[in-house]
Amino acid sequence: MKDVLLRGLVRPADLRLILVEATDLSRMARMLHGLAPTSASIFAEAMTAGLLLGALQKGETRVNLSLEVDGPLSGLLVDAGTDGSVRGHVRRPDVHFPGDPAIGPCAALGGSGTLSVLRDLGKGEFYRGSVEVLPGTLTDNLRRYFAASEQVATAIDIRVLPTGKEPLGMVAGLVVQKMPEGSVDALETARNRIAGGAFLDALASGAKDEALARSVVGDGLEVLTRGPVSYVCNCSRQRAVNAASALGHAGIREVLAEEKQVVIDCEFCKKRYVIEEAELSDIARRLEGDLPAC
Ligand SMILES: [Zn+2]
Repeated sequence: MKDVLLRGLVRPADLRLILVEATDLSRMARMLHGLAPTSASIFAEAMTAGLLLGALQKGETRVNLSLEVDGPLSGLLVDAGTDGSVRGHVRRPDVHFPGDPAIGPCAALGGSGTLSVLRDLGKGEFYRGSVEVLPGTLTDNLRRYFAASEQVATAIDIRVLPTGKEPLGMVAGLVVQKMPEGSVDALETARNRIAGGAFLDALASGAKDEALARSVVGDGLEVLTRGPVSYVCNCSRQRAVNAASALGHAGIREVLAEEKQVVIDCEFCKKRYVIEEAELSDIARRLEGDLPAC
């Protein structure tokens, strides 16, 4: 199975649809972060949500989805781009509720908290929307976010389906939105199909791609684009140097007097950047104005 992001239109009802299959990237992220099954399941759901939210935006922008909850998971952050890239981290990687996989994620989230979405609208403009977390899945809470914060009528479903011993057997999600002239009834039909388990049943029966999308929107689907999605981190040594520079020359002189190195671990991809004494001295001198900025 190859992860994919599909965009389409449903005519003549004038709905737009985005479908994400994120099984491979979710399994990869699970290995990278060493996640126990329940943490992995919620993280997969959140990354799929991030990709769907990202795909609703224009241009080359990003969206952050963050969750602060009183349950054992505690919180997570997902950063996704309009280009199909996603990364993130979970505060408590070791959460595991054996038994019914439909119940564990709700228990891990607990009963209160905040779900926030930060949208980069481009040109330095941002929009933040949030809803209080209530008992239920992340997707239940995301539905309430769409109802409360976004202007467009939306139907959404995200499913993480275990197969055998694999907690991330299949991971997929879709969003259906009404275009300005779109049919209210058609969107309601999509919502009812989701509520009746159509998307989950299609996924469980092995449907993929267009067939999976049609389980919710029916036969009028016209696929516009189809592209890859993947777990990508855009951290770099230069960003780590910039982070060290943010200590200021006094801060770096302090480090030089004690540890003699700065170690920065990327929370998203676990890469470690070590900035040694000689480079730190250069940064401090540059900050003091003795060296030209490179
Ligand atoms: Zn990284």
